[in-house]
Amino acid sequence: MLSGDDLENFGYYDMFQTNEDKQDPYSKWVEEKILTYGDERLVENTLGLVGEAGEVAEKIKKLIRDSSRFSNEEILKELGDVVFYATALANIYGNGLKEILDLNIAKLDDRQKRGKLKGSGDNR
Ligand SMILES: [Mg+2]
Repeated sequence: MLSGDDLENFGYYDMFQTNEDKQDPYSKWVEEKILTYGDERLVENTLGLVGEAGEVAEKIKKLIRDSSRFSNEEILKELGDVVFYATALANIYGNGLKEILDLNIAKLDDRQKRGKLKGSGDNR
């Protein structure tokens, strides 16, 4: 199984080169697309994230329930919308997408090392 160290060896960090302000290029690009400010932005980005995740879920539901057909690209585009809004929120609370990927990799690698991938609770 791959670890965060393996990702580094595969060039993961090269994909997300950061400048002196620690923000990766994708996160900067997302920031340039944001049209709202303050509390309005927080609500818009949060509802955007939930709404886009709902669009992914809706396609999967229709795929199973109605045998609807969606191309992989249609699903991937919706997932891209999820990543966009997750990055927008990450820009508010930190330095963007790379930071949340780094934190997630460290958290899950730690859980894996301790045999805690299964189970529930944010701090297991
Ligand atoms: Mg969408």
